[in-house]
Amino acid sequence: MVASIRIIVEQTGNPTLSPVFARASAIRTAGSSASGNLSRESVIDLLEAAMLTGKGGAGFPAARKARLMVAQPGPHKTLVVNGSEHEPGSMKDRFLLEMHPHQVVEGAMVLAHAVGADTVVFAINAGSTKAIDAMQRALAAIDVDAMSVPANIALQVRTVPEVYIVGEETALLETLEGREPLPRRKPPFPIEQGLHGLPTLVQNVETVARIPFIVSSGAEAYRALGPGGTGSTLCTFGPEFVHAGVQDVPLGITIRELLDIWGGGLRDGLPIKCIQPGGPSSGFVMPEQFEQPFDAATLVRLGSALGCAVIRAFSIEECMVRHIGETMHFFAVESCGQCPRCRMETNMLDTIVRQVMNGAGTQKLLDKVEGIIQLARGQGICSLIDMPVAPIRSGLQHFADEFTAHIEHRCTLCKAGASARRASVEVVDPAAS
Ligand code: SF4
Repeated sequence: MVASIRIIVEQTGNPTLSPVFARASAIRTAGSSASGNLSRESVIDLLEAAMLTGKGGAGFPAARKARLMVAQPGPHKTLVVNGSEHEPGSMKDRFLLEMHPHQVVEGAMVLAHAVGADTVVFAINAGSTKAIDAMQRALAAIDVDAMSVPANIALQVRTVPEVYIVGEETALLETLEGREPLPRRKPPFPIEQGLHGLPTLVQNVETVARIPFIVSSGAEAYRALGPGGTGSTLCTFGPEFVHAGVQDVPLGITIRELLDIWGGGLRDGLPIKCIQPGGPSSGFVMPEQFEQPFDAATLVRLGSALGCAVIRAFSIEECMVRHIGETMHFFAVESCGQCPRCRMETNMLDTIVRQVMNGAGTQKLLDKVEGIIQLARGQGICSLIDMPVAPIRSGLQHFADEFTAHIEHRCTLCKAGASARRASVEVVDPAAS
């Protein structure tokens, strides 16, 4: 199985990072918090006061997840730090693992202490060799005595295949147990019965890496990092931006500031037609909405999502039918195929948009989209079944004229795509792999 979209992002210039990621390479807070300076409950209270949410895409409050873990019975619990980053274009977790491995380890140790985990597994993409090396070096450098890091926590780095569905936490657990990455039916949830049947907290790399700052500087200092009072978030700006790559963006600035200041605008200088701020499963945000704040709640209200904050922008010269077609193809390829309704939905949406894209579609065909979505709704083991919904729905809503132009064989935009984007996005034919 291969990703049907590959977005090649190269960091242009130095990433702008908040104090959260400006610490020296040393493990400082893990020892002091675990050795009694901070009780378990105090750590979780701090995460709650900081309003830290999961940075892997779902945005679940980190403190609530930690408390659910604490409530699980049994002497052995596991923390899995999820660094299996598969969202097309996302490179924030790899960036942290490569550039700030001590901070990832430190955050993981504090969290393990807080939830009572005695095993920590760092799951990293098999192809991210620099990240794997950096993490292994960081673990080897831990001096248990000197740093008062609890010696009773077992730490290990595990590699996982580069398949989109591995990002789903139960598929990740299946992989770590040596099986095919197929999402599990829930309940039981991983927190009740996860890796090898033990209570398992799966938490994203970025979420974990934010914990040392919160523990050492306080919840208020963390929240004050953004004008919205909810801190900051790592964004990966797509290759079409002047400042492509990873930046730590204050939450609560306007979307326009996000694009113009942090992203630096588009490389080709063209006006932006729309953005997709949360990866391929997020809806489109239009220019008339760019004065709204950049935060998770606002993006949901606008019919989109923050997800793992891969910021893609499309210029007025790009064909959105083509982009939506690539997106539908991506989900059809990445569906693991366990659920008949998911197979049906992702394949039909892929086929319909491809037919329209290739000039063989009709409005009657597009009218079937909503019925297909309704038939599949809630019928999957995991959330991938819902992922094509926002992009296709908001695409049909905002770009109806572009779909009509394709149906009527008069789309001129396909030939006028922005060069930076075309050079950096590959559509891979799964049949050829
Ligand atoms: S919803 Fe789709 S991706 Fe998820 S388990 Fe079912 S078939 Fe697989």
